Amino acid sequence: MDLEALNGLLRPQSIAVVGASNKEGKIGYTVVKNLLDSHYEGVIYPINPTDSEILGLKAYPSVLDVPGTIDAATIIVPAKLVPMVTEECGKKGVKGLIIIASGFSEVGRQDLEKQVVDIAHSYGMRVLGPNIVGILSNSDLCNASFAPFLPLPGKAALVSQSGALLIAMDASTYTRRVGFDKMVSIGNMSDVNFADTIEWLDQDESTACISLYIEGLRNGRAFINAALNAVKPIIALKAGVSAHGAAAAASHTGSLAGSGKIYDTAFQQGGVVRASDLNNLFDRTLALSLQPPMQGDNMLIITNGGGVGVLATDAAERYGVPLRFAPADVQAELRKHMPEFGSAKNPVDLTGMAGKDWYYASVRFAFAHPWVDALAVLYCETAMTDPLEIAQGIKQALEDAGVEGKPVAVSFVGGEQSAAARKWLVENGIPAYDAPDVAINALAALREYARSRQMAAVPFQRYADVDEAAARQIIANARAHKNSSLTEIESKKIFRAYGMPVAMTELATTEDEAVQIAEQIGYPIVMKIMSHDILHKSDAGGVKVNVKNAEGAREAFRTIIANAKAYKADAVIEGVAVQEMAPWGTEVIVGSVNDPTFGPSVMFGLGGIFVEILKDVTFRVAPVSAEQSYKMLEEIKAGAILAGARGEEPRDRKALSEVLSRYSQMITDLGDEISESDANPVLVYEEGQGVKVVDARIILKK
Ligand code: ADP
Ligand code: MG
Repeated sequence: MDLEALNGLLRPQSIAVVGASNKEGKIGYTVVKNLLDSHYEGVIYPINPTDSEILGLKAYPSVLDVPGTIDAATIIVPAKLVPMVTEECGKKGVKGLIIIASGFSEVGRQDLEKQVVDIAHSYGMRVLGPNIVGILSNSDLCNASFAPFLPLPGKAALVSQSGALLIAMDASTYTRRVGFDKMVSIGNMSDVNFADTIEWLDQDESTACISLYIEGLRNGRAFINAALNAVKPIIALKAGVSAHGAAAAASHTGSLAGSGKIYDTAFQQGGVVRASDLNNLFDRTLALSLQPPMQGDNMLIITNGGGVGVLATDAAERYGVPLRFAPADVQAELRKHMPEFGSAKNPVDLTGMAGKDWYYASVRFAFAHPWVDALAVLYCETAMTDPLEIAQGIKQALEDAGVEGKPVAVSFVGGEQSAAARKWLVENGIPAYDAPDVAINALAALREYARSRQMAAVPFQRYADVDEAAARQIIANARAHKNSSLTEIESKKIFRAYGMPVAMTELATTEDEAVQIAEQIGYPIVMKIMSHDILHKSDAGGVKVNVKNAEGAREAFRTIIANAKAYKADAVIEGVAVQEMAPWGTEVIVGSVNDPTFGPSVMFGLGGIFVEILKDVTFRVAPVSAEQSYKMLEEIKAGAILAGARGEEPRDRKALSEVLSRYSQMITDLGDEISESDANPVLVYEEGQGVKVVDARIILKK
């Protein structure tokens, strides 16, 4: 990415306001006024065809008349004039355009938008927008937007696809006491997108946490890569997950992928923390911008009230950081700072008698203890204690503990005094909330962040023993015959070229041939209809399992052909596949979709009702390492079945994860050809006994 050009756009030293106006109420007036009100220290050049002065600043008829250099031009003229203005900015040597003007792709004018971007790029300019509010930066004292004021100063940065929401969030930073250094509106994302802004903000010294409001991504892979490469925490609120992806998905896997599950996994794979709603985005952003990640699983809760302790305990389980009892030495020490009837387990209940000193002593000890990976400090306002004093005690204790790299979150439940204490805590770098479950949720965000970073650190390693050329040859043959899907036999050849264990299969075109092949393989065998026109073979009465002898093979051959003809009169039948009958194993499904946003993605689930009815499946954007694939096996609700539930032997999850990983490489390598595919079922045997793909299907891209 061209950081230099983005610097000009996001940290401009000089700004032209094209469409600046003297008329109050016009956006061209507001933007100039906001720049002045925010005490912007760079040069402001209002551009107006007739007025020679705007809000006390000298104005120019065109950017070409401006004497000095211009880093960024905010553009607030009617859409149809934007190409001309862009041309002038290019000639002037402007670095980037902040196109506030609307009337582009959001109203169907993709052509106009493309024209503007093409002109901008021909001059090496980057484009933010169009259809945006602008940019706001506290550290640059720059409000180049029509949002009324800079946000409450802080360490987070917001990138928002929605302009209206950005303005609303800007205002609510003051009531919620969550500070932001920057807010960037990216609107139509004609050029600068989430990936660019992540990359830029990651190197911005005033940003500690990158917060995103996302409606839809253009290039999902670029997003994942930018997120993966970022060293700062990223949190995303994704709106509109329900509608995504369902379109044009013909197969099973396709419809299962429709529920935003691929977005979920993509965020996880990029190490992006999720926010469930707007409140959650603020709450989690606060913690992520102020505290380090939570590197282990042990969270200790210190409280002065049993009630909030229980609420926090429930929340801990709900948000994926279940509590454990503190070890004996921790309990013994903590007992010294509480009355007889307190509890030193976890939550540590100092009781309502706890004042500043007890909080100080227990927080200081616990925070420094190596068993503790994160600390939640809860307080209920009491008649006997002063919230601000407690807050100060907590802060002092954390400092005196002398440890770094561990997070803390605080909850003060109470009235105005507690609110004042929370405000003080946040100003002193400690995330403080008004409810215990919110503090726990904030720590859970820091845990999720650490976990996904750990997981993302295991990169995919290509399998070298694959034969991509052979796979492509099979696809080319099918295309030459105008086939849009591959038969099981063709599909299995490709699976085998990628090193997956498949049940041996040969095509028979006559009864005699069927018997011949069967004899080579050895009975019992399975026989199946092979036709490009029949995707679901059982539905057509096209599968016979456990065929035991030559007599049976002949009969099965005849029945299968007859059934297929009855099922679909005009089906072109290639013959009958004869294959080894694999021994019984746990049936699982491996599938893929070519997601419009993220590209080839792999799905995993258990066979039968688990997938059909419960939709118990999990996804990854491909490719995935075998280690990541193993996580998929644990992720599904029925995962316990593979682990060996109810006295069953554990299944060969290692072999299965390798198949998932190889499969993910296959759909990635051949992503330009394959639209959907699956192996349904794959039979999974006991540990050490491997797996077998008994059915395979590949649907080609149109
Ligand atoms: P369909 O096109 O209907 O999905 P399959 O090839 O999956 O056809 O066969 C249907 C079922 O028959 C499978 O779900 C599996 O239980 C069983 N089956 C298919 N092939 C074999 C085989 N080679 N060994 C053992 N069982 C098989
Ligand atoms: Mg099948």
